[in-house]
Amino acid sequence: MRAEADPRDELRGLVRSLAARVRTDAETGRPCSYLSRTRRPGGTVSAEPPPEAAAAAGELSALAEVRQDLGDCRRCPLHRTRQRLVFGEGNPQAELVFVGEAPGADEDAQGRPFVGAAGQLLTKIIEAMKLRREEVYICNILKCRPPGNRNPQPDEIAACEPFLIRQLRAIRPRIICALGTFAAHTLLKSEAPIGALRGRFHSYQGIPVMPTYHPAYLLRNPGGKKQVWEDVQMVMQALRAGKGADVLPAAKQGKD
Ligand code: SF4
Repeated sequence: MRAEADPRDELRGLVRSLAARVRTDAETGRPCSYLSRTRRPGGTVSAEPPPEAAAAAGELSALAEVRQDLGDCRRCPLHRTRQRLVFGEGNPQAELVFVGEAPGADEDAQGRPFVGAAGQLLTKIIEAMKLRREEVYICNILKCRPPGNRNPQPDEIAACEPFLIRQLRAIRPRIICALGTFAAHTLLKSEAPIGALRGRFHSYQGIPVMPTYHPAYLLRNPGGKKQVWEDVQMVMQALRAGKGADVLPAAKQGKD
């Protein structure tokens, strides 16, 4: 019998994500101003939450609302064979979002994205970028596992994509990294091979998208790691330079 997704687990996951953000800020020395009360002149303490708290709470609740609307989704046939729906996890205010293809067996069993062998490789890539998993957001085009890890079907992508669009709108990242062919094709509405798309920024509604090879591909083809490292270095440089849409050619800024 398959285990139904428990929305309370998802809410706990979102709270864990915010807690991880707070922990990361504390460890990296970033001010956790959203935890402190604002002291007014004269020593009184304001009950008003500082703007960062309002922003974090807003994005957390926007994501929670998307999760709530997704519910125990049965909008495509994949609900019949899934064990757990895999919504996504990470920092609701992430500057960088990784979008993969679909859950595999490990993800289906645990209800979390990128936790199998490919996920461990993605974690290493994130750490090589001098980031932590908790600082980014990770999700997939499809929230349920296709049987036997087969390719996503167009009707499944069409049914699931509105929730990805809402996740990205809630998070409003500065950069998206599309992992593999299906993520790149879905976000960019392109059918060009991933080898031709990678290596430069494209635009998704004005947000720069760096397509690169999926970690599962790298496990089978370790020679592709060099290209992935080149791609993520471009992402790192843009993040460090505080860049977002301005890495795109002028004609693509603010456009799909
Ligand atoms: S893949 Fe997406 S649309 Fe299909 S059942 Fe799962 S959550 Fe719903």
